[in-house]
Amino acid sequence: MSTEASSKAFEQAQNLIPGGVNSPVRAFSSVGGTPIFIAEGNGAYLTDIDGNKYVDFVQSWGPLIFGHRDESIEAAVIEAVKHGLSFGAPTQAETDLAQLVVSMFDSIDKIRFVSSGTEAVMSAIRLARGFTGRDDIVKFTGCYHGHSDSLLVQAGSGAVTFGNPSSPGVPADFTKHTLLATYNDIESVKKCFADSQDIACVIIEPIAGNMGLVPADKEFLAELRKICDENGTLLIFDEVMSGFRASINGAESITGTTPDIVTLGKVIGGGMPVGAFGASAEIMAKLSPEGPVYQAGTLSGNPVAMAAGFAALSKLKKNAPVMNVLNARAKRLVEGMQAAASECGVTMQIDTRGSMFGFFFNEAPVKNFADACNSDAELFAKFHAGMIKEGFYFACSLYETGFISTATTDEMIEDTIKASAKVLKAITNG
Ligand code: PMP
Repeated sequence: MSTEASSKAFEQAQNLIPGGVNSPVRAFSSVGGTPIFIAEGNGAYLTDIDGNKYVDFVQSWGPLIFGHRDESIEAAVIEAVKHGLSFGAPTQAETDLAQLVVSMFDSIDKIRFVSSGTEAVMSAIRLARGFTGRDDIVKFTGCYHGHSDSLLVQAGSGAVTFGNPSSPGVPADFTKHTLLATYNDIESVKKCFADSQDIACVIIEPIAGNMGLVPADKEFLAELRKICDENGTLLIFDEVMSGFRASINGAESITGTTPDIVTLGKVIGGGMPVGAFGASAEIMAKLSPEGPVYQAGTLSGNPVAMAAGFAALSKLKKNAPVMNVLNARAKRLVEGMQAAASECGVTMQIDTRGSMFGFFFNEAPVKNFADACNSDAELFAKFHAGMIKEGFYFACSLYETGFISTATTDEMIEDTIKASAKVLKAITNG
């Protein structure tokens, strides 16, 4: 298998685009090697510019729950394009998608559309601060909420402390209102509330997908809800990744905990750039022009993007049981891989939620970011490279989640398991 064309394209891109990519994780930095340049996608497959074909378990990092070039989404986009790309004025398509999302999420009465997950979360935090009149926020180590300044804060070794920025260019002053807690550890949350009486919101990925797949325990989320209620703090579920992936009715429908604000992205745009945040009518009334909290966007609610999102979500809603099919496939995949690893003497931790799957080369269960960091990164890198060679495109970092689409067949799953057995055997000389 040659990836010569990808190597050349990467070299050329590096001269013009920092690191050769427009989003860092695409550079394969954590696994080494050269990123694959994509020529096209079709159903469950990607084809690179060298002509190699892969079963795609990344799916644009989540949006493509129906795989590449889904007929109904493609048709909706082409139809929308014929009427104009953007107007900067209201269209019926925005109300139609809003209606659909509101019908799927109990916690959402009203919604606003933006163009990315980052924007959705940034705006939701501003709304929470505007609504409560408070400044501080609590986030969890290992949860990613986009690249806005006050959210680019990582671990202080799990200690509850006011966060330090994790990127140059973010003034410490901008993150001094961000408190850090440990995922699935309610005591760490209680410490935050002991440290500050000014907490506007707690933001969490209820099904974390940015430290690998690490779902929050139900009891932990219930406790979190209780603490927020006792303190007049809003609870934000960041479902940019898990929304319409783990369940079509949100994490609230499977965890039993209802958030005050939900942020969405990825699937909601059907592959086009869309983010959104929604809440009760009372909270959303604070948003401009109804209320004083400012938020805006030239391309927000873009008609082509709305058409793609509507096609994707209406298809999902009509085919609700498909989530069980996807989950069965995702489960079979990671269970098969785990069994193959076990035969080579390697312990794998696995989990799934709907069409999301995760696996760690780790001896112990993974409950938080520190646990995830104890995984065998070297083994993961070798596994990733081996699977690419076999024609299976997995996310190029152990801290990412995998995705199954409706185009991913049972046969492809079995082939992936077989390939994983071969690759693990070769790596471990098993
Ligand atoms: N929140 C979560 C949970 C995410 O997974 C992501 C992106 N992976 C974001 C926010 C940011 O979304 P975007 O990349 O569209 O800005």
